[in-house]
Amino acid sequence: MSSRGDERAPAPSQAGAWLVLRDVRRAFRQGRSLIHAVDGVSLDIEAGETIAVTGPSGAGKSTLLHLIGGLDMPDSGRIVVSGVDVHSLSRTAAARYRRSVGFVFQYYRLLGHLSPVDNVLSPLLGDGRVRPADVQWAGELLDLVDLPTDGRVAAGDLSGGEQQRVAIARALVGRPKLVIADEPTGALDSRTGEDVLDLIAALQAQWGFTLIMATHDPSVAAQCARQIRLLDGRVLTETRVQSRDPDALLRRVTGLG
Ligand code: ADP
Repeated sequence: MSSRGDERAPAPSQAGAWLVLRDVRRAFRQGRSLIHAVDGVSLDIEAGETIAVTGPSGAGKSTLLHLIGGLDMPDSGRIVVSGVDVHSLSRTAAARYRRSVGFVFQYYRLLGHLSPVDNVLSPLLGDGRVRPADVQWAGELLDLVDLPTDGRVAAGDLSGGEQQRVAIARALVGRPKLVIADEPTGALDSRTGEDVLDLIAALQAQWGFTLIMATHDPSVAAQCARQIRLLDGRVLTETRVQSRDPDALLRRVTGLG
C-alpha cells in the first residue's frame, strides 16, 4: 500500500503548478489576541494529487481548507487554481468557483429534512434549474456510493456512515476537479470510517480529482500520497509516500476480484 516516506522541509519552488498557494495568511481575533490560524503557507499542488493536511487540533487545517475552497478569504497571499486567483474573483465567479469544488465535512452538513437525492442535487441549485438529467445523475451517484435512491427517506434519518456517503455523492455531483474533505471520518466509528475512506480513495482513483483531506489521524493520512503537517498555521514537514495501488483498492471496495 504505502512505503516509508521521504521527510524533508517544505521548499515550494515549482512554477505553474495546478494549485498554487503563496504566503497565505489568515488571522482571527480572539479577545485581545490575534490567532495566526494560517501563517504564511506556500504550496504547489499538481492536479490529481492526494494530500493529507495533518496536525493537532488548532493547527490551522480547517482554515487552510476553507481558504483553498473559497469559503473564507485570506488576509494576504494568493491561492491560484488552474491559473485563476480564486480570491480576486467577482462575487458571482467566486460563488461559481465554490460550487466547482466538492466539499465533504466531518458532520456531513446535509439538509436533514430532504431526501438523499435532493441533498445530492443541492449544489446544482445555485446554477439555476435542475434538469431531469441531473436527477438521473444524482441517482447514479447514490448507486455509486451504495445507497438506495428512495425519495421518501429523510437524509437526517440515515446512519452517520450513510449520511457521509450522501455527502460524498453531493461533493461529486458537479464533477469536481478538486475535492476538499475536512476530517471526513472524524464523526464515524473506525470500521465505518475505514469504509468511507476506501470509498473516497476509490472514487479519487477512478475520477482523478485532486483530493485535499484534513485529518489528525495518522492512519487516515497514510491513505494519501503526500502529507503536509501543519503546526501553528505553518507547514512543519512534508512527506511523500508511494500511492496505493488504485486497482487493488477498487477491487476491495467493489468486492470484485
Ligand atoms: P484545525 O482545523 O487544525 O483544528 P482550525 O483551522 O480550526 O484548526 O483553527 C486554527 C486556529 O484558528 C484555532 O486557534 C482556532 O481557534 C482559530 N479559529 C479558527 N476559526 C476561527 C474563527 N472563525 N474565529 C476565531 N478563531 C478561529
